[in-house]
Amino acid sequence: MGRHDHKIHQGEALKGAARERLTRVGEQWTDMRAAVFDALAGFDKPASAYDIAEEVSKRQGRRVAANSVYRILDLFVGANLARRVESANAYVANRHPDCLHDCIFLICDSCGQTVHIDDDSLSGGVRQAAKTAGFSAPRPVIEVRGTCGDCEGS
Ligand SMILES: [Zn+2]
Ligand SMILES: [Zn+2]
Ligand SMILES: [Zn+2]
Repeated sequence: MGRHDHKIHQGEALKGAARERLTRVGEQWTDMRAAVFDALAGFDKPASAYDIAEEVSKRQGRRVAANSVYRILDLFVGANLARRVESANAYVANRHPDCLHDCIFLICDSCGQTVHIDDDSLSGGVRQAAKTAGFSAPRPVIEVRGTCGDCEGS
């Protein structure tokens, strides 16, 4: 990890970076995969395979099965295009498909809005503590629940 050009992408640039990353790992950016990524990136909170299947179905005017969406999400997670938010049992688009981090998610208990932050010194400390406890190849999953600024203010 260390020092690198950490790019957070949005909108069209995010789609471009995702496509580039997926093709770099030897997978094709098919129309269906593009549609799933597009729908996923459009959610402002973690989305389940069902949420995404519904959104893609609506946009395409044809029934898309949650199962096929699920397989694509699985591929996306493996390729660093998406992340699973464990405590929400759902997925978010990864806005930095070019680099790997132990992403940290802050999830609002009232509205579900999820903030994605990257702090390698925090997750690195967790990794180190796990190694000290004898765990090999630890993968920190760090999720914080609370009330977001929007909900707190209202
Ligand atoms: Zn980075
Ligand atoms: Zn991240
Ligand atoms: Zn909130």
